Amino acid sequence: MVEGESSGKVCLVTGAGRGIGRAIANILAAPNVAVICVSKSEANCAAVADEIRDRGFSAEHMAVDVSSADAVANACRAILSKHAAVDILINNAGIARDNLLMRMSDDEWDSVLSTNLSSCFHWTKNLLYRMVKRRWGRIVNVSSVVGITGNFGQSNYAAAKAGVIGFTKSIARETASRGITVNAVAPGFIQTDMTSNLGESIVADLLRNIPMRTLGTADDVAAAVKFLCSDEAGYITGHVINIDGGMVM
Ligand code: NAD
Repeated sequence: MVEGESSGKVCLVTGAGRGIGRAIANILAAPNVAVICVSKSEANCAAVADEIRDRGFSAEHMAVDVSSADAVANACRAILSKHAAVDILINNAGIARDNLLMRMSDDEWDSVLSTNLSSCFHWTKNLLYRMVKRRWGRIVNVSSVVGITGNFGQSNYAAAKAGVIGFTKSIARETASRGITVNAVAPGFIQTDMTSNLGESIVADLLRNIPMRTLGTADDVAAAVKFLCSDEAGYITGHVINIDGGMVM
């Protein structure tokens, strides 16, 4: 973020403990910006907040299970008792629990929907009012190219990520006149813990479908998120940026 444009801003990144969220939390850190790193694991988000403070910026951490409406509401209450508002909200936390539909359990369905999609609803609902009052805000939701194309064995994940896109576009319309932009990023295959268990032959197959013939990095995604949070992106709302090496055009 360009120094000055974001002065006095508070950013909140969910799933900030590792992977893409960690890269986003790090790239949004800047002078006069407080980054709140949220993750399920206290140790992970505390380590990322330490990392940011070691670079001379302001950061705090909070262990919150984003799949719980009550936990999110309590966290937002605590945050808003300390900060006037969260100006930049990045809904990044997500999980995959893959299975063929005929074998998919209710728990596999529910946990993926609540972690990836309902969490966006709860964080946004709890934080939006203060953003609206300040007449400036940035919300970026992390979807997936799978939310656009669907994927074998991922009906729960694809439904959640498609839902994230519909949610993004709807809230963009509701908030556009208030100086708030709401956009989504749709990563393709990014090298993180989420994709680390894919076998060599699966990766080889994947690479054949990626015109750039390489997996992306968490920093590739973070760079797009940083742009969407900048003042320069103030006239862009309701959009989805694919970060996928050309996989889905
Ligand atoms: P990751 O598994 O490395 O990290 C996910 C983060 O979310 C972790 O910090 C984890 O603690 C947190 N998290 C998971 N469940 C949570 C919960 N209930 N409460 C709080 N925090 C929780 O995954 P990643 O690859 O960094 O993925 C980040 C986002 O990007 C996810 O939404 C994912 O669906 C999306 N995505 C990833 C890829 C990819 O290829 N890695 C592709 C498309 C989309």
